[in-house]
Amino acid sequence: MKIKLLDGTVKDFNGSATILEIAENIAISLKKNTIAAKVNGKYVPTDYIVEKDCDLELITSKHEDYLKVLNYTTAFVAGAAIESIFKDTKLAKILYKKDECEFGVTFEIEPRIGLDQLTVIQSKIMELLKNNSITWTKVSWEEIEKSEEYSEYQKYIAKDMHETYGEVFIYKIANTKFITPHPITLNTKLIKVLEIQQLSGEYWLNDAKNIMLQKVHGIMSDSQASLDEIKASLEDRRSRDHRIINKTLNVFGIDNLVGPGLPLWMPNGTIIKEEIKKYLKEKEWEYDYIHVTTPVIGTIDLYKKSGHWDHYGEDMFQPFNGGAGNEEQFILRPMNCPHHVAVYKQEQRSYRDLPLRIAEHALQHRYESSGSLTGLERVRAMELTDSHIFVRPDQVEQEFKAIYKLVTEVLDTFKIEIDYLSLSLRDPEDKIKYYQDDKMWNEAEIALENVLKDLNLDYKKCIGEAAFYGPKLDIQIKTAQNHEITVSTIQLDFLLPKKFDVTYIDQNQEYKAPIMIHRGLIGTYERFVATLLEQTKGILPLWLAPTQVEIIPIGDQTNESYANEVRNELKKHFIRTHIDNRDERLSYKIRDAQIKKIPYQLVIGETEKSNKTVTFRMYGSEEQTTILLNQFVNILINKIKSKN
Ligand code: ATP
Ligand code: ZN
Repeated sequence: MKIKLLDGTVKDFNGSATILEIAENIAISLKKNTIAAKVNGKYVPTDYIVEKDCDLELITSKHEDYLKVLNYTTAFVAGAAIESIFKDTKLAKILYKKDECEFGVTFEIEPRIGLDQLTVIQSKIMELLKNNSITWTKVSWEEIEKSEEYSEYQKYIAKDMHETYGEVFIYKIANTKFITPHPITLNTKLIKVLEIQQLSGEYWLNDAKNIMLQKVHGIMSDSQASLDEIKASLEDRRSRDHRIINKTLNVFGIDNLVGPGLPLWMPNGTIIKEEIKKYLKEKEWEYDYIHVTTPVIGTIDLYKKSGHWDHYGEDMFQPFNGGAGNEEQFILRPMNCPHHVAVYKQEQRSYRDLPLRIAEHALQHRYESSGSLTGLERVRAMELTDSHIFVRPDQVEQEFKAIYKLVTEVLDTFKIEIDYLSLSLRDPEDKIKYYQDDKMWNEAEIALENVLKDLNLDYKKCIGEAAFYGPKLDIQIKTAQNHEITVSTIQLDFLLPKKFDVTYIDQNQEYKAPIMIHRGLIGTYERFVATLLEQTKGILPLWLAPTQVEIIPIGDQTNESYANEVRNELKKHFIRTHIDNRDERLSYKIRDAQIKKIPYQLVIGETEKSNKTVTFRMYGSEEQTTILLNQFVNILINKIKSKN
């Protein structure tokens, strides 16, 4: 048989061989280091017998799935520990969340277990690992279906495995048998350290209609040092959670009576949002965008015509009537595209008017599921930095370049690094999903790729990921929480202009349909500010800080009046200040300003008043500098202008 390895080499074998035999044949050291394998995409243990030609990946500590294997194995042993401690446990499934470095196992037990039992579970896992080995067998689905030995959850997994791979694997440790398609290593000695951290709930198959199972989760590693590293990085991430940072910065609030997922931008948050908005609108002005303001509702017919109702109907706030007794139906808009089409259509445009760049920082609403709502990151009311640009086909390339330049300049200002670019193209074979116009698709896709090549950019090509109406480029970033998000998006759309009969008059006085480009500059303010708070740990640059200068008067009343003078001078230049005249010690006030992450603290006393100076220290620094008030004002003005 022929075994094709990951690097493309092909090995010939006479008859069947186990994974370890194949590994040994390649290199002796590989036999020692292989902990599991992937055969034609299916995870298998090291004594699995390969009988036919296949693609093979040997999983060693260098393979991207190494930690996945160790975590799933630990999760399986955790399940075994729970089953051996608690009578009548029904194990469900094992989980591994790469982003959170976390393994987990779900199960059903009556009565439910409590937090105080986690340490017992942890010790039992270690005991099982020390005294037992893991074995496995292949069993037919028919046999499992008839058997009483497995829970309904395990049967569900077995059936799924049977349908996907044609084989069902049962792993065994001590008295526990467990069915899983996930990778399990037979080498239990690799699991050196672990910590069970939490007990929580999870609906079976993540569906709220199903039973709420219990879930035990934890972290593990093959050495104490690396477990310590994992813990430190998780701790760092937790402290960066924008919902935690919000507790001291007071950026947004949620009131369940107003409604979950409907954020209240508090004064500090409003300053941050408005400063960003001012900057983005200036940038858009530089790039010749025009701004419009359109209503947050539209008739249901508008969204039926645009196709949104058919495609996204379930994720929208549902239609409501106008006045009492009035049959007219409206919806809260989930997207702004149709409104901008209507703006375009207010006048007959000519080829000379294009590109027409209609921008709006627009409020829109989506009915996200209540379980998915997360602080400002996923909300139901959001303001999108939106634009719809109408171009002639011959302008696509140039406009695309201009948009990309605008996006990168903006991201640079926020010191946000692009993780990668994703170019989504159609699958030409898919005649159902995609709007049929081969010429249009080919030209647009070639135009986009040309731009990326011209700009010397690397990108991931995703065939079949394009929207039904056209190809798109997504600009992906990794947040401090390790979440991958689309920060900016540029999408071509051939369809919407046609649906709404949008035209321009070309040089020959003929009516033509423009191409529409949907452009999200930094996504929504909600998700962007969440990302920014997490990236900066709430230590915002001067231009965005809600309070830029904390003024702390010391000594007698006359110094307080000088503090007011300083405040008024800064206010003239739109610099945001706060005077701390509480009856507290200076060190306390300074600490408080640090907690609030205020960039500058001024201490105003007798000397400052007499010399018309200020003594300042910057956030995170002990150093104090005394300079003339007007010099200080100039420093701040320049710094704010530079957005550093
Ligand atoms: P997701 O996959 O996260 O739901 P999406 O792909 O549906 O997002 P788009 O329809 O492309 O998002 O919306 C554009 C932008 O709107 C996204 O890049 C994101 O910044 C933002 N966004 C989408 N949904 C939400 C939400 N519920 N809360 C906050 N921002 C959102
Ligand atoms: Zn749009």
